[in-house]
Amino acid sequence: MKLSHYVNLLMKITFKATNDIGQEEKIMLKTTISGSLPKPFWLAEPEVLWAKWSIEEVTRLEEAKRDAVRLAISDQEQAGIDIVSDGEQSRQHFVHGILEKIEGIDFLNKQRIGIRNDRYKADCPTVISKVQRSGPIHLSEVNFARRQTKRDLKFTMPGPMTIVDTLADNHYGDRAELAMAFASILNLEAKELAEAGVNVIQFDEPAFNVYLDEVSTWGVEALNLAVEGVSCKTAVHVCYGYGIKANLDWKAGLGEIWDQYNKILPALASSNIDQVSLEFAGSRVPFEVIGLLEGKKDVLVGAIDVTTLEAETPDQVADVIRKSMEYVSPDKIYPCTNCGMVPLPREVSRDKLISLVKGAMIVRKEL
Ligand code: ZN
Repeated sequence: MKLSHYVNLLMKITFKATNDIGQEEKIMLKTTISGSLPKPFWLAEPEVLWAKWSIEEVTRLEEAKRDAVRLAISDQEQAGIDIVSDGEQSRQHFVHGILEKIEGIDFLNKQRIGIRNDRYKADCPTVISKVQRSGPIHLSEVNFARRQTKRDLKFTMPGPMTIVDTLADNHYGDRAELAMAFASILNLEAKELAEAGVNVIQFDEPAFNVYLDEVSTWGVEALNLAVEGVSCKTAVHVCYGYGIKANLDWKAGLGEIWDQYNKILPALASSNIDQVSLEFAGSRVPFEVIGLLEGKKDVLVGAIDVTTLEAETPDQVADVIRKSMEYVSPDKIYPCTNCGMVPLPREVSRDKLISLVKGAMIVRKEL
């Protein structure tokens, strides 16, 4: 057993509360975030996606990224978030960050393509030959983040379908086959990061909400391959996207009830993923979709809207949590943000983290 495992074990024991008759009691409604947090201005241009780094010199940029990770973790700890992430401070974009280190992808040959079923255009790198992992990709980032906190640590990576949907492909010519190739790479990476002491590995699959039929034909199969033999908890995050205009326009046209989850959650219920992260705050997703997971999965309940510039009140957060409790027991609920907060002002993001924790505390007291 590695040292990191002993440390994790020790922390788990320390953090467990003990009730009156000396039995261990599981802390319920642990809070977490879906992934990204805003970057400081000295690291990257604030409040935009795909923001350029503010520093060109490589060594200084690496130092700045690490300093930003310290701040991201510190902000979460100060707010009281239970399962923290590195805030995705080290990557420019949630998909392209990992791709930069995979062989077979040409970053100099970017093509402007429509992604998420042509919802918006993006300059995407091109697959030009068999994709391969030549060595560890995120290990040093994770080792660094692990040393910064005693709390449970989550690490996020894009899921296979979302990767495939954010790339131009000149080699495979088959999205399912390409997804499986990436799933194998993600699996190697996930196993290594779990060994390094990550407690939760989350795959981000916003594309699941777009290609509903493909989720059951190959999307879940690819996810299952990605998590095979991974020793920590695994999660999938399926959302309605960051608060950018293209997404807001898309959401506005989705009708009175957003029924995308209805079509994909039955497939996720029978997957090998432990946790499912869903968007509820400020959305038109009916809470009963949680029932489609049949109590088999932990639910990361999105109780913070990432498209608004004002923090929710703790009571609003508590209300979302209570509604979700009608469909799954509180030991399976993890109050969370709807999506990443990278495009938000830092102050807004910090206030939202605080409200998330306060809201969870309100409901915890009622249990
Ligand atoms: Zn998201």
